[in-house]
Amino acid sequence: MFKKVLIANRGEIAVRIIRACRELGIKTVAVYSTADKNSLHAQIADESICIGPANSKDSYLNMKAIISACEITGAEAIHPGFGFLSENAHFASMCQRCGITFIGPDPHSIEMLGDKAQAKKTMEDAGVPVITGSNGAVKSVSDALEIAKKVGYPVLVKASAGGGGRGIRRINTPKEMEEQITIAQQEALNFFGDSSVYIEKLILEPKHIEVQIMADNYGNVVYLGERDCSMQRRNQKVLEETPSPIMTDKLRKKMGESAVRAAKACGYKNAGTIEFLVDKDRNYYFMEMNTRIQVEHPITEAVTGIDLVKTQILVASGEKLPFTQKDIHMNGHAIECRINAENPALNFRPSPGTIEALHTPGGFGIRIDSAVYQGYTIPPYYDSMIAKLIVHAPDRDTAIMKMKWALSEFIVDGVDTNIDFQLNIIRHKAFKEGNYNNSFLEKEFKL
Ligand code: ADP
Ligand code: ADP
Ligand code: MG
Repeated sequence: MFKKVLIANRGEIAVRIIRACRELGIKTVAVYSTADKNSLHAQIADESICIGPANSKDSYLNMKAIISACEITGAEAIHPGFGFLSENAHFASMCQRCGITFIGPDPHSIEMLGDKAQAKKTMEDAGVPVITGSNGAVKSVSDALEIAKKVGYPVLVKASAGGGGRGIRRINTPKEMEEQITIAQQEALNFFGDSSVYIEKLILEPKHIEVQIMADNYGNVVYLGERDCSMQRRNQKVLEETPSPIMTDKLRKKMGESAVRAAKACGYKNAGTIEFLVDKDRNYYFMEMNTRIQVEHPITEAVTGIDLVKTQILVASGEKLPFTQKDIHMNGHAIECRINAENPALNFRPSPGTIEALHTPGGFGIRIDSAVYQGYTIPPYYDSMIAKLIVHAPDRDTAIMKMKWALSEFIVDGVDTNIDFQLNIIRHKAFKEGNYNNSFLEKEFKL
């Protein structure tokens, strides 16, 4: 097992990883930007190193500074968390060449799956159902028009290197194609440094259901149930739950086995998530694979009783998976609400600033993963997610009740938050009935 791990991230996920390391008896190294001098992760780690100025490009994305921090402190492994360098194949291979273990899959798996158009081809070959569309990236507008005609409008144009819900555009008619493709390519280049785009049929009112998998270095792959992430705003997740209200044991097994096949098709190691869209007839289609731990991992931890971050570290250090498929049972129901410093009334404008007063809920079955404290100043440079509230109960109704009261108790003064917005979702009749899809928030909340 590692003696010392460096966490190449910030915020609640950095804190989450530090805690997992402590339980494993591993010393931790936090890295931070000048804007994060007072952040929780920098304070609770055994050692902390400043890696550059506020702008992520110069700090949390500064590979040389992070590798140097490893060398200076003698950390043997890097946990990348999510976002930042977590899906950067070049960084993973840099670690490898420097003799540092990257806690995640091999660089070639990251590269293969990071190109979403390419990944679909790999999955199709492995017998995993995919959404119809272009076979790889589109080469020209006429190419795109031909594909769209074949699959039928509306279609989506998506950035091959996309992530975080960005770089996705809807095209309703052939007339819009040229303009939209051009904008999409430009956006893709700006956001992701790669202008390739691909075309996909738009699935109407689908549900986003993803499967968590965990793989060791010896070819063992296990699926850990699903997460329903259909509660979305602008293709970004807002609230997640497991099990999905539409799931059956039979479908879970089928999707789980597809997910395992997908992972095996690319020699996958460590934690990963296969994202599927599920249509009204419960047909499911591979959308993408995220080659990292995800924001919503705690709901899976709640129902399976497995610490996913600890397992990531264990398998990265060369241990075998400590469980097999038949050891995985889903126990009860879990829901996560993402708590963001933002103002829903002002089009969810981020709301950085100082937290004047903070009261967090607690009690049986309530978990908070957070990086804020009273008096903390949220810097304006990074993601607006400041906490995750997770509840676990024997059944869905009880979990909803627990979440409702937990949200009501949650007080954050000094900055705006989406806590009331989350409460409105939790109280909504359709949500209570488990009757919602990816278009729900846009439609019901007129977003
Ligand atoms: P999930 O929420 O399922 O873990 P997301 O796609 O929402 O996955 O990404 C998690 C975090 O990583 C978010 O903070 C998101 O903004 C960020 N992120 C994801 N992909 C990218 C990317 N390609 N570039 C920059 N940030 C990204
Ligand atoms: P990202 O890499 O940004 O996470 P995804 O490919 O996972 O992008 O898509 C994000 C979200 O966009 C999905 O959860 C879904 O709501 C929507 N979406 C993506 N592709 C389609 C599609 N073909 N049909 C309908 N909705 C889609
Ligand atoms: Mg996605």
